[in-house]
Amino acid sequence: MYKSVPWVLLIGLIIFVSWFTVGQSSPQINQPDTSPPVVPREQLDQSPQMGSGESITFNKYNGVEPQQWGEQVSGVGYRLETQEKVLALTLDACGGSGLAAGYDKALIDYLDTKQIPATLFVTGNWIDANPEIFLKLAGNPLFQIANHGLNHRPASVNGRSAYNIQGTGNQAELIQEIAVNGEKIDALTGGRPRYYRSGTNFYDEIAISMAHDLGYVTVGYGVAGDAGATFSREQVKKTLLGARAGSIILMHFNHPEGQTAEGLMDAIPVLEQNGFKFVSLSAGPLLYYP
Ligand SMILES: [Zn+2]
Repeated sequence: MYKSVPWVLLIGLIIFVSWFTVGQSSPQINQPDTSPPVVPREQLDQSPQMGSGESITFNKYNGVEPQQWGEQVSGVGYRLETQEKVLALTLDACGGSGLAAGYDKALIDYLDTKQIPATLFVTGNWIDANPEIFLKLAGNPLFQIANHGLNHRPASVNGRSAYNIQGTGNQAELIQEIAVNGEKIDALTGGRPRYYRSGTNFYDEIAISMAHDLGYVTVGYGVAGDAGATFSREQVKKTLLGARAGSIILMHFNHPEGQTAEGLMDAIPVLEQNGFKFVSLSAGPLLYYP
């Protein structure tokens, strides 16, 4: 089954790019669209479906220069809107080679044993490097699979970079980064992800709007739990203990050589003693950067 996926993706991509190219040259939908590029907040959490070509008009962004660049960009969800002592754990798997393509089995096994839910943001590259592990994770109802981009690129419409990683260079590259990975996950699991977080979690606001048009809610974080899996065990623990009601915690499950798992295992019993519970990212409405 897995071997047939690249063909499905290729055909999907061809259809997608053809439609995109046709859309670009079609005089009918090439009217300038003066609607603001930023999606109204109330629309962001409605999980829109990707419909037929005419319902998504990327031409509306032609000639619109992005004004923002970073992690706290308009439309990025960063916290659960609640006063209850609940936390949402989100774990990224970023790379497809070397250390970045690893799998932190100790971390995942711990969550499984403790029945702690988590949202796993995976890149297409990481899936290719860990196909069997990916399918196993996707089949576990404790874990929700989310889209971390096909190639872990910062989400830009004009090629901006973050941490020396080249962002997507234009709309077509951004669409490929988001939609092709979503189709890949759909083909493997039978479900398209609801949430998107770009590689590096850097965005411009046009990219956020386009992700929304593609059917995604973009989710950042409130607590950087492991700083790209570079934190020591003590740093991880200390940072996690700073979480508050509704915090979205970002960590990584692709660096077993780091101390993320150890720090998390130290922190969770203390957080539980302090009355915190872990919930799915979809447990409640999100707060978004204005
Ligand atoms: Zn990442």
